[in-house]
Amino acid sequence: MTEREFALDVVRKLHRAGFTALWAGGCVRDELLGLVPADYDVATNAEPKQLPPLFKRRNEIGAHFGVVQVIGPRGDDGEWLTVEVATFRIDGPYDPSGRTPDWVKFCSPEEDAKRRDFTINGMFIDPLNNDLIDYVGGRADLDAKILRAIGNPTERFAEDKLRILRAVRMAARFDLTIDPETLAAAKRMAAEIRIVSAERIAEELRKMFAHPNRARGVRLLREFDLIEPILPELAQIGTLWDHTIRMVEALGQVVSFPLAFAAVLHSLDKETVEAIADRLRLSTVEKTRVAWLVEKQHCLVDAQTMRASKLYPILVHSGIDELLSLHRADALTSGKSLAHVEFCEKVLRETPRDVLNPVPAVTGDDLIALGMKPGKDFKRLLDAVREAQLEGRVKEKEQGLELVRQLCSAALPALEKPSE
Ligand code: ATP
Ligand code: MG
Repeated sequence: MTEREFALDVVRKLHRAGFTALWAGGCVRDELLGLVPADYDVATNAEPKQLPPLFKRRNEIGAHFGVVQVIGPRGDDGEWLTVEVATFRIDGPYDPSGRTPDWVKFCSPEEDAKRRDFTINGMFIDPLNNDLIDYVGGRADLDAKILRAIGNPTERFAEDKLRILRAVRMAARFDLTIDPETLAAAKRMAAEIRIVSAERIAEELRKMFAHPNRARGVRLLREFDLIEPILPELAQIGTLWDHTIRMVEALGQVVSFPLAFAAVLHSLDKETVEAIADRLRLSTVEKTRVAWLVEKQHCLVDAQTMRASKLYPILVHSGIDELLSLHRADALTSGKSLAHVEFCEKVLRETPRDVLNPVPAVTGDDLIALGMKPGKDFKRLLDAVREAQLEGRVKEKEQGLELVRQLCSAALPALEKPSE
C-alpha cells in the first residue's frame, strides 16, 4: 500500500462514520501540480477524542492542538505509513519563537483554510470525488504561478515570522512570482525572522537547499534581506557571492542537505561553518558532514599525483560521493578540468575494497605483544605501518612488524625499543 492509498482509506473511514474529511494544504497543491506529495494531511470535523473507534493505532502527542497521527500498515519500503488527521481549527498566537500556539479552537473548513499561510497551500480536496474546495483563490494563483499570502500579508507575517522564509522556499520550489503586496511585506519584515526558533528555520533551510531549485532559493534569501538575519557570516563574502550561487547551481539535481549547505557556505572556514551549524541546531551528523565537506573541498584537486596513503582514506570516507560532487561543482564553476574527479571515480570503481581500506596489518595489541607500552609512539608506529600498507609496501602482519622493528632500531628520537 502507498501513503496515498492509506490517506484515501483514512478519508473513507471518516466519511463512513459520518464526518467530513478532506485532504488539506500541501498535498492538495502537489496533487494539482501532478507532483508526489511528501505527506498527506487530512482535515476533518471529527475531534481527536472521536478517532479511537475508527483508528486503532495513533500517536496523540498533538491531540491537544487537534492533531492526531494515524498509523497504518507498513508501506512498500517497509516503513510504517502515517497520515496526520487534524480537526478543522484556528489557532491563537504562537509563542515568539513559534513552536506551539497558546490555544486552538475547532472551527469550519473555511476558517481553517484562512489560517493557512499562502493561497496555494490553503486548499482542500475531497479525494473520494475529486471535488476541490477552495476558499482562498488558491487554484487561480497556482495556475498563474503566484505566491500570495492569505489575507493581509503584513498581519500574517507578523503572526508567524517563519512565513517570510516559507515564502522564499515556496516561491523557489514552485517557480512562482511573488504577489507585490506579499513581497513588500516580507521584505519589510525580514529582519524579524530572528525571533523564530533555530529548529524551525533549519527545517525550512533543509527543505529549500535539498530541492533542485535551491539556487533560486539562495538568490531570494538575499533579495529578501534574509541573509543578514539568518546567515550573517555570508553577508561579508562580497564578490564571492556570485561564485557561491554558481556553485550551488552546478550541484546535481538530487543532492543531500549537507552537500547543498556546504556549497552555500564553501567560502567560509571550517570553524565558522561549525558555529553556524551549532546556532541552527543542526544534528551532529549534519554538522560533521557539512564541516568536513567545506574543509576538504579542495583536497582532491591533485588526486592523480597523491600518494595512496593520502588518497585512499579520503576515498573510503562515507561522504566521498558528496565530496566528489562538491569538487565537480567547483571545477565546473571555475572552468577547471574534471580530470581529478574522474580519476577518483575510476579508482573507486576499479580498486578492490580491501586495497582501499585493508584490515590493519598491525594493531596496538601486536605492539603490546612485542613488549611495548602504550604511549604516544604507538600512534606514530601504527600510522607508519598503515601508510606502508596503503602504499603496498606492507601486505602481511609479519612485514608490518618488521617495519616496526626497523623504525625502532633506526632510533627515531622518541621511540622506545621493543624488547626482543
Ligand atoms: P512540504 O511539501 O514541503 O511539506 P507543505 O505545504 O506541506 O510543504 P508543511 O510545513 O508540511 O508544508 O505544512 C502543511 C500545511 O500547513 C501547509 O500547506 C499550510 O497550509 C499549513 N502551514 C504550515 N506552516 C504554516 C505556517 N507557518 N503558517 C500557516 N500555515 C502553515
Ligand atoms: Mg507537508
